[in-house]
Amino acid sequence: MTVLAATDLLAANQRKPVREQIALFVAVTVPFLAVVSAAPMWSAWKLSWGIAVLTISFYAISMLGITVGFHRLFTHRAFRANRALKICLAVAGSLAIQGPLQRWVADHRRHHAFADREGDPHSPWRFGNGMFAVLKGMGFAHLGWLFDRSETNSDVFAADVAADGDLVIISRLFGLFVVASVALPPSIELALGASASHVLAALFWASLVRIFMVHHVTWSINSICHVIGDRPFSTRDRATNFWPLAILSMGEAWHNGHHASPGCARHGVERGQIDASAWLIRAFERLGWATNVKWPERYRYTLRESGA
Ligand SMILES: [Zn+2]
Ligand SMILES: [Zn+2]
Repeated sequence: MTVLAATDLLAANQRKPVREQIALFVAVTVPFLAVVSAAPMWSAWKLSWGIAVLTISFYAISMLGITVGFHRLFTHRAFRANRALKICLAVAGSLAIQGPLQRWVADHRRHHAFADREGDPHSPWRFGNGMFAVLKGMGFAHLGWLFDRSETNSDVFAADVAADGDLVIISRLFGLFVVASVALPPSIELALGASASHVLAALFWASLVRIFMVHHVTWSINSICHVIGDRPFSTRDRATNFWPLAILSMGEAWHNGHHASPGCARHGVERGQIDASAWLIRAFERLGWATNVKWPERYRYTLRESGA
């Protein structure tokens, strides 16, 4: 049996290649530039009802691929999926362009293992508690951490993903899913016989603006949901519930509830907390595609004493 030093657990077993960092820079800046150009170019980027539906559909598919697939299934094993569902969720999550599945799982498990302590890859508290330190930390938790060249040791944190042949193939095909995520919406418009301006508009809204939204909503969970919001449950970290993001994040903004019981399939465990990802898992369970779902009844949530 290999005995790992604490540093092996905390840090990385390799550094990310430079070409990957360049690709990441492009993946972050191109959707951002699209959003910046959205207001002045509004009339040029025709947002028709058809393209709005396409945009919302691709947003939902890629976001739920992350929340239900990458996060609740592959990282936390909150339920078991049959093979077809497992593959579909792994592909849908890859369309969000947040890195290969295996790396996502490793980074996120490391986040939970060291949440808001040394070793957390994206704690907003890493620079201290002062106002400027926290603002700097939120920037790091939101985006800066992605450019950290050290890579989480996936042999330690995602060995189960590496042992699943389907998931290894999907992780390796990540580049293909990046291309597909950008190319599919305009290709659908083209196949439907749309004009060139509508094909371009689909590329703008359903590819670039949608990718921007998926990225920044997901990253807001790392930045905002460890600083701003309510902390009803006792956790070892500073994870919060931030209701304004509940719908766009498909339930992930109930992050205090999530950190209180990470293995639970529902994050919004309190009355009235909208959690679309949990609804989808419930639907998969009713269809018989998801089994052994870990619903909140299995867990005990300890209310935090006020002022603690
Ligand atoms: Zn967290
Ligand atoms: Zn988690």
